Amino acid sequence: RDPGRYGEGEDFLTTFTELGLMPELLRAVRDAKYDTPTPVQAQAIPLVLCGGDVLACAQTGTGKTAGFLLPLLQRLAREERGRVRALVLTPTRELATQIGECARTYGKYLQVRTAVVFGGVSLGAQVEQLCRGADLLVATPGRLLDHMKRGTVAFSALNVLVLDEADRMLDMGFLPDVRRILRALPAVRQTLLFSATMPQEIERLARETLRAPVVIDVGRRATPVA
Ligand code: AMP
Repeated sequence: RDPGRYGEGEDFLTTFTELGLMPELLRAVRDAKYDTPTPVQAQAIPLVLCGGDVLACAQTGTGKTAGFLLPLLQRLAREERGRVRALVLTPTRELATQIGECARTYGKYLQVRTAVVFGGVSLGAQVEQLCRGADLLVATPGRLLDHMKRGTVAFSALNVLVLDEADRMLDMGFLPDVRRILRALPAVRQTLLFSATMPQEIERLARETLRAPVVIDVGRRATPVA
């Protein structure tokens, strides 16, 4: 690192390049006008790239979405394409849509295909999307279970799971569905759990699902958009 690059009195900042992201992602990040990684990104990106499990205490506004999507996209771009290898579970349709849009924005110079499924709309278009082949699937738990029961999605190639906004999934009563989904996934995989708060039930879920996770806690001070 070259301290001369940083202005006087400025914090010692990591750059996206230093985090080990590939040129296609760095270009997309530049297009999005992100200058500096947020604290959760600086910590999560290298860990996720290395394949380790992560337990992150981070709320919306911390840049957590790019914190998991950028390294996920990098891993997906480097492996064989066409089967679901990464799954992001998130509580609401709005979040699922937003994560899907972010994946397309950050992945615009890559060949990674993203599918998004959520409840409240007909299954047809989602089934078609899944049949065309997706590398990354973003889903709300209930609708994903519907697809799993119908056999429109398979997880034999899955190697990364992200549980996004886990505490909100708990509040919305989705944990039983999440556990059902977990039981259907390959046991050998990387798992990332993001939660704004860590109630006991989420701590238990983390203990059950994560293997030797690195814990990231960026607290409330680390909002990039404040
Ligand atoms: P999130 O916490 O993932 O919901 O992200 C909050 C907002 O911060 C989103 O609108 C992102 O586009 C934006 N964002 C994420 N990372 C950065 C960054 N490194 N620099 C500037 N804005 C960012």
